[in-house]
Formats: sequence, C-alpha cells, structure tokens
Amino acid sequence: MGTAIEWTDTVWNPVTGCSKVSEGCRNCYAFALHDMRHKAFQEGKKLPQQYAKPFNEIQLFPDRLLQPLKWKKPRRIFVNSMSDLFHGHVPDEFLDQAFAVILACAILEGRNHTFQILTKRPARMQRYFIDREPTELVKAWAKAGDGWIHVGDGDEYFSGYIGSITRYEWNADGSAKAGSEYKPFGHLEGIFPLPNVWIGTSVENQQAAADRIPLLLETPAAVRFLSCEPLLGPVDLEFWTQFDHPDNEGYGVEAIKGIDWVIAGGESGKNARPMHPDWAEDLRDQCEGYGVQFFFKQWGEWAPVHELLCNEPGIKGKPWYHFDPDISVCRVGKDRAGRVLDGLEWDEFPAYQERLLK
Ligand code: SF4
Repeated sequence: MGTAIEWTDTVWNPVTGCSKVSEGCRNCYAFALHDMRHKAFQEGKKLPQQYAKPFNEIQLFPDRLLQPLKWKKPRRIFVNSMSDLFHGHVPDEFLDQAFAVILACAILEGRNHTFQILTKRPARMQRYFIDREPTELVKAWAKAGDGWIHVGDGDEYFSGYIGSITRYEWNADGSAKAGSEYKPFGHLEGIFPLPNVWIGTSVENQQAAADRIPLLLETPAAVRFLSCEPLLGPVDLEFWTQFDHPDNEGYGVEAIKGIDWVIAGGESGKNARPMHPDWAEDLRDQCEGYGVQFFFKQWGEWAPVHELLCNEPGIKGKPWYHFDPDISVCRVGKDRAGRVLDGLEWDEFPAYQERLLK
C-alpha cells in the first residue's frame, strides 16, 4: 500500500486501533480518519468490515501478516500507521508472529525490506525485547512462523530452518567456524538485533524526550530513531540533566550516539498547533553537531512567514500566531508551507539502512 508519508514507501497494518497517551496524540490523524469512516459505516455506507468497530478497539488482522513476504522490491515499510504495535492490547503472541515475518524477510533472498516501527509506548517495547534472552526471543519468533511461513522447498518448519542456520558460527565458505559450539538458536550474529528493523519513539516535547528516550536506548536495535512530529516544544537531546536515572553516567552526549536518525515536523490537520521555527532549527543543529541523520518532514499547517508582509498574496486574511515580536507563523496550509528549512530540504536517512536497501 502506497503512502504519502515522506520517510517511508509502504505501510503495513496488521493491527488497527489505538488509544491516546500523550499530547502528541491529541489530533491523531488515524483516530480522526477511522472514526469518520466508522460513523459512515454505521450510517450504512459500504466500507471494509474493520470500520464496524470504533478506533479505540484494537483489531488484529492475521491475514495481513504475510503481505511483506509477497513484496519483492525492497521497500521501507512503516509498521502500523493506524495503531501502535506495542499497545497493551496487542498480545505478545501476535507480536511474535509479526516479528516472525520480519525475521523471514531478514534471512530470505529477495525480501530485503526495512521495517520502521514507531511507538509511543517504549516501556512495553523495551520489555518485549529484553524480558526474554535473545536466544529465547528468536526461538519464539521462529516457532510463531511454523506452518505458515514457508522457506526452502516449502516442507521445512520455519523454526527448523532458523534453528539450523543459527546452530554454528559460520565462515564465509559456509563451513562451521573452528571451536563453534553446536547450539540451535545460539549463534545470532546478523539476526539479533534484527538488521532490517528501525525502532523509534515519538518525542513531541522535552517531557516525552525524558520519558521515552532512555527506554529506546535500552532496547536492542540495529537502528534507533526519534519522530519529533508534531513538534510541540523545544527538545534538548542533551537531556541527561533533565531526568533522574540510576544509570545516568553514559547518557547525555554518549546517549545521543545511540540515536541514528531524527525526523521532525509540524502538525497538520484541522486543529494543528503551530511549531516555532526555532524548535525545528535547533533540533537540526543538534543533529548536525552530533552526526545524527536528520529528516525534516514538513512545516505542517503553519509556516514561518516573518520575512513576509500580512498582505502578501496567499497570506492576506489567513490566521497568524505570534510567538514573539520577531517570530510569527501563518496558517497557509500544509502544501503551501512545504518542507524547506533554512533554504534546504533535509532528507537524510541512516547510512546503515541505506546499505541494506541496496
Ligand atoms: S499512539 Fe499514535 S496511533 Fe495511537 S492515538 Fe497516539 S498518535 Fe494515534
């Protein structure tokens, strides 16, 4: 399924439905879109059955799990654009099945996708990834794929296949490394953390940064990212002075090195809140300073127009918001506002992932 989201190619929605957890959720587009269709469904409009239920009911769609294995061209896949994969009502067993598919894509020829998983529930995500030892977790994913994920000539159980490729450390010629102990699921280099997964959390303001970034950093991942959209306040990534954590040493600047990519953007939609241009520019500057890749998604509904006059064509009569005497934004609409920051479009991606997509 194509998407208008600038930093991905496709969405994959094996789960729909969610509930609001923080300020960033206030104008959730998925909520608004689903509930509009739910109302239309109730009024008798012909729509898919998923709209029979309101958005706050979590719905699992096992029949969608195999979709990525059918897509042959490498894609960036945004997982659950209409939900949060780590919502408390998504059972671990279903997560295991979703990760079985992702694992299959990591090891099968011609399924070189990248899975972008973004959550506002990093506590559950962290527990999911660390409560079981990596060996147990990979084994659970492999077993969850038995009988419906087909590998080899199709008659081998998925868990048998994963067990066999992880039984030794391998040399480049396919022989077992000298001294490597026979242990199915015991040799996980290149498999765990999953090399084809980017794990991200939403950071709309400093509170979300303090609450969520430590949990993200404690989650094993090949690539970690932040989605600072909608950006509702300034975010200082050197946040170690703002949160109290028993392992505080090693956070701060060292922690930023654990972040590979930052997306930033203003809010769009009917009730969009304005973003101060300094918040986006400052985040960009921090990323540049620390060597973190930066992607500016959009200004959103409100664009900085302090260099323009109120009677400029296209500006006249539109609502304004004045942050201070020097900085104003005008509600010109998402398309007109565009995505140019300081004269440039910022389209950086994690270098690691770019290699995987080739
Ligand atoms: S977590 Fe995401 S999908 Fe869920 S309500 Fe918030 S913004 Fe919407």
